[in-house]
Amino acid sequence: MYRKIIAFFTIFIMIISLSACGNKDYSEVSTKTKDNNNSKGDKIEVVVSFNPLKEFAEAVGKDKITVTSIVSGGIEPHEFEPKAKDLENINKGKIFVYNGLGMEPWAEKVLKTIENKDVIIVKASKGGNFIKTSEEEEGTHGEYDPHIWLSLKEAKVEANNIKEALIKADAANKEFYENNYKDFASKLDNLFNEYDKKFKEVKNKNFVTGHEAFAYICRDFNLQQNSVENMFSEGEPSAKKLKELVDYARKNNVKTIFSEGNVSPKVSEALASEIGAKVESIYTLETKEDNKNYLESMKDNLEKIYVSLK
Ligand SMILES: [Zn+2]
Repeated sequence: MYRKIIAFFTIFIMIISLSACGNKDYSEVSTKTKDNNNSKGDKIEVVVSFNPLKEFAEAVGKDKITVTSIVSGGIEPHEFEPKAKDLENINKGKIFVYNGLGMEPWAEKVLKTIENKDVIIVKASKGGNFIKTSEEEEGTHGEYDPHIWLSLKEAKVEANNIKEALIKADAANKEFYENNYKDFASKLDNLFNEYDKKFKEVKNKNFVTGHEAFAYICRDFNLQQNSVENMFSEGEPSAKKLKELVDYARKNNVKTIFSEGNVSPKVSEALASEIGAKVESIYTLETKEDNKNYLESMKDNLEKIYVSLK
């Protein structure tokens, strides 16, 4: 997505992530539905707000569901506003899944207007272990960092909440959903264990990204991110911050600047050329990129970060 900041790409903002971890049990899988057994073999229609939730739903529901993502086509979810058609789709679905934590301010409004009271509503982040946003962010963006799906551990929480909703909607296939969830969760665990070992072996723990979306990866693997934009893709440019970031990168011998599809690579390229580093792509998973699924994208991210720290 195009942003104003792109015009000012010689200037950057850096926020060093030193967020403490929040821990708050959040919201609900609402139980508006009585019995919805899907004994006829019809596919369950699941509507999700944006890409990672689609990935999780598909991993658990496989061929027994169809998933529609409200935010699609490369649009950045942070800037999304729904149209009438989107509300219609939510009303037609059996299940509506959103992330919460301020990722979809529109969704919380939409929920009040849903006419079809049988829609099962899932706040996927429910029960997660959240990272608090910095104090200056909190006023405008809520208390917690919403990028929870970028933690392999929190991904299990989100997938599990979706699984519970699928069972509620389609109890006849409970075992199918349970087994798919277990299979997906063990793949997440395996990937976590593989990189937990690798990251413990490297001394350097600092990496630089375009959009501060990776605090959960940092927490999982004891790393530290520094970003050229603020956490919510709307940072105010500042020459002072640019200089700090350049100094930081030099001091820490940063050789790779990560760049996300949603963030102008020009920002990262300018910084990289200033310090003689290369630019590598990294996935926020906020939109689907390169036709990679969740596990493939996360493995790619972790491997690239690991290689950059070695
Ligand atoms: Zn984001």
